Amino acid sequence: MENLLISACLLGDECKYSGGSNALPEETIEKLRTRYRLIPVCPETAGGLPTPRDPSERLGERVVSCRGADVTAQFKKGAEAALTLARRYGCTTALMKEHSPSCGSGLIYDGSFSGKLVKGDGCAAELLKAAGVSVVGENMTELLTMACKAE
Ligand code: SF4
Repeated sequence: MENLLISACLLGDECKYSGGSNALPEETIEKLRTRYRLIPVCPETAGGLPTPRDPSERLGERVVSCRGADVTAQFKKGAEAALTLARRYGCTTALMKEHSPSCGSGLIYDGSFSGKLVKGDGCAAELLKAAGVSVVGENMTELLTMACKAE
């Protein structure tokens, strides 16, 4: 069975900055489990940040909290932890929470904390992609499970 790296909050882990989760519907998770061994990771907590925590956004190469704290080092450490897990388990695909400054892929918040999205990747998604891992957002979950039905 293939291993799939997945943002832990999509599995219901309450590791989101607010202390909540971004849980996918239970039936969706069950469908994923029929095809993949799910390898959860939360790069922000893996990088040493607490939960709950202030929300952060990328500002170029830096990551800054809404109160101006520079959390770049924690985000980089978390990204490395995600890549280490992907390599350990041979994950070629990662299903990651969209728009997150860690997990987001393709579109992330612009650093103004106004909800505006710009092109870019979160720190972990960027590092995973650079290492050849295919990163998809949760809106692509159905595609992953459709591949399951087709087999
Ligand atoms: Fe979810 Fe990723 Fe944020 Fe952790 S860092 S709460 S896994 S989006």
